[in-house]
Amino acid sequence: MNSIEPRKADEVIDGIFHLYRARGDQAYLGEPVSMTDHMLQSAALAEAAGAAPAVVAATLLHDLGHLVHGLADDAADHGIDTAHEEVAARWLAPWFGPEVVEPIRLHVAAKRYLCATEPGYLARLSPASVLSLSLQGGPLTDADSAAFAALPHAAAAVELRRYDDEGKSAAAVTPTLEHFRAGLVAIVTS
Ligand code: FE
Repeated sequence: MNSIEPRKADEVIDGIFHLYRARGDQAYLGEPVSMTDHMLQSAALAEAAGAAPAVVAATLLHDLGHLVHGLADDAADHGIDTAHEEVAARWLAPWFGPEVVEPIRLHVAAKRYLCATEPGYLARLSPASVLSLSLQGGPLTDADSAAFAALPHAAAAVELRRYDDEGKSAAAVTPTLEHFRAGLVAIVTS
C-alpha cells in the first residue's frame, strides 16, 4: 500500500526519471535502442498485455541498474558481468515492495531459466543477450531451474523477461516516462 505522502512519492519518481533522462540515452548493450527507449518499450508491452501494475513498474525499472552502476555500456564486450539486476534491486528496495523489486532481481535468472527449460528460447535471443548470458552463468541446471521456479516472484520475473526480450525494436513508437508516472506513484511504498 502507498504509505508516503503523494508529494514525497512524486519526488522519488522525479529522481528515477532524472536518471533515465541523464543517463538513459546510451545504447542498450548492443541493441538498436537506447536504454530508456528499451525500458519504455518493454513497459508499454507489459501494459498492453494487461500485466499487473507491479509488473508494469518492474518492467519499466528492470534495467535501472545499467544507469547507476557506473560501468561502460560495453562492459559485456570486455567480459564483465555488471550484475545490473542486483544493483537495481538494491537501489529500488527502499521505495518499492517485493512484487516490484524481486522480479527485477530475478530477471537475469529468468533468462537463464528460460534458456534451460523452453525449447527455442535461446535461439531467439539477440546476439547481445547471448553474449551476456555466458557472463551470467549460462542456462540454469535442472536443480537450479526447479529452485528458481519455486521462488515467490519467479512467474512475474519470467513475464517481465518476455517483455524485456521484445522491447528492442528500433521502429517502435514508445510512450513517454510521464505516461507511467501515476502508476509508479501509486505503488511507491515507503
Ligand atoms: Fe532489459
